[in-house]
Amino acid sequence: MCNTEQLCYLCYYNYYMKENSRKYDVIVIGGGPSGMMCAGRAAELGARVLLLEKNASLGNKLMLTGGGRCNITNANFDNNSFLDNFGKAKKYLFSPFSQFSVQDTFNFFQNHNLPLVTEARNRVFPKTQSSQDVFNTLIKYMKKGRVTIKTHTQVTSLKYNDKKVLSLNDSNHNNYKADNFVIATGGLAAPETGATGDGLNFLEKMGHKVHASNPNLVPLKTEVKWIHNLSGITWSFMKIRFVQNNKTQIRKTGKILFTHFGISGPLIINSANEVKKLLKNGPVEAVIDLFPDTDEKVLDKKIIKLLDKHFDKKMKNVLPEVIFKNIALEILNLPHLKLSEKEAKFITKVERKTLVHTIKNLTFPISGTCGMDKAIVADGGIELSEVNFKNMTSRKYSNLYLTGDILNINRPSGGFSLQLCWTTGFVAGTDIGNKLSHK
Ligand SMILES: Cc1cc2nc3c(=O)[nH]c(=O)nc-3n(C[C@H](O)[C@H](O)[C@H](O)COP(=O)(O)OP(=O)(O)OC[C@H]3O[C@@H](n4cnc5c(N)ncnc54)[C@H](O)[C@@H]3O)c2cc1C
Repeated sequence: MCNTEQLCYLCYYNYYMKENSRKYDVIVIGGGPSGMMCAGRAAELGARVLLLEKNASLGNKLMLTGGGRCNITNANFDNNSFLDNFGKAKKYLFSPFSQFSVQDTFNFFQNHNLPLVTEARNRVFPKTQSSQDVFNTLIKYMKKGRVTIKTHTQVTSLKYNDKKVLSLNDSNHNNYKADNFVIATGGLAAPETGATGDGLNFLEKMGHKVHASNPNLVPLKTEVKWIHNLSGITWSFMKIRFVQNNKTQIRKTGKILFTHFGISGPLIINSANEVKKLLKNGPVEAVIDLFPDTDEKVLDKKIIKLLDKHFDKKMKNVLPEVIFKNIALEILNLPHLKLSEKEAKFITKVERKTLVHTIKNLTFPISGTCGMDKAIVADGGIELSEVNFKNMTSRKYSNLYLTGDILNINRPSGGFSLQLCWTTGFVAGTDIGNKLSHK
């Protein structure tokens, strides 16, 4: 190195040439949860690891998970019943989950000083309730193993022969060589986070079968204005039915979140695929029961008591005693009711019965599912029979590993997606690390 304070051109050139001709044991493409876990694990076992990320920072999607709280996994410790959530992919996942299970996820994060808590429906979050802390844990894990991280670096192509990947090119005109490569570039959901399908395009060109992607875990849309007006409200216990041709086709109970485009929340997101299928056959209506545990007669009695208690008040000041104010006002203003300005004492029996029926049958048409921008997970991806799940390698290229959302695996919300990332990333990283000891 020369003595000048700043790196002179020649030194910089030498550094640059050395860096670029440096051979890594593995290059991980994509700094999402599966890529970070893989990189950290391979490095822990002694591998020289380079991680390339096209964004300015790693883990953009991870930071959004669980509304910023990160639903890290789902606390079902029996592999067999846990894997029931992965449909047709279940049979492929026994091997990786026998190497890194839900229990291992608990152990991993707790051993890295991130205690976890289990909430309703077995959903597991960091005790700190912050995705940032999950991110920090992974960064520390990679730093400990001296993973080289390059951000602002988009991989643009891979060079390969008919058996192996040889090198890759990036958007900064670098060519990197390595013994192993990992494609951890994610699926197509939420493309603003960086998951734009680059890896799927590379793999398709390389002869892998790629199943087309569609938004899968995604909110539902309606054009009905009064639903949009409820944006931001969560109703924690209701029943929703999806009706087609006057017949209830889907029935769910739980929490609903109203948004400026329709309805969301885990219950809705997990119903989206079924609703999408119904929509192909014709119009679908959502029917919400705000009081699923109270039948119409009992609710009617409750409303009678309420009207008696507030007999000289306007309905807009009465109904909010039992229903969130915004929802109550939207209901009272519905064209078939128009009761908001009417005093309780003037409500007729017919009006009261119609009101009670409406509260238990809030009906509005569903116009469709949201697009990739609002999707949590997209279906589609790499054909599973082309992946060796014992170590997450491609069956076509022996030194190419595939992890995370890039795989054609459907699953519900509730921590199952991130668990898939921890498992596939860890298994790939372990295999890469183990190869070193056999060199
Ligand atoms: C809003 C939202 C909330 C979610 N909440 C949860 C939750 O609480 N629990 C749960 O289990 N799952 C959740 N998920 C799903 C979960 O985030 C994903 O399953 C997970 O992030 C997938 O990880 P991955 O490593 O496969 O890919 P990603 O997280 O998509 O990361 C891929 C990375 O690769 C980079 N990349 C892409 N192409 C290139 C290239 N050519 N060169 C270099 N880098 C590239 C991208 O920029 C990105 O950083 C949520 C998803 C969303 C959108």
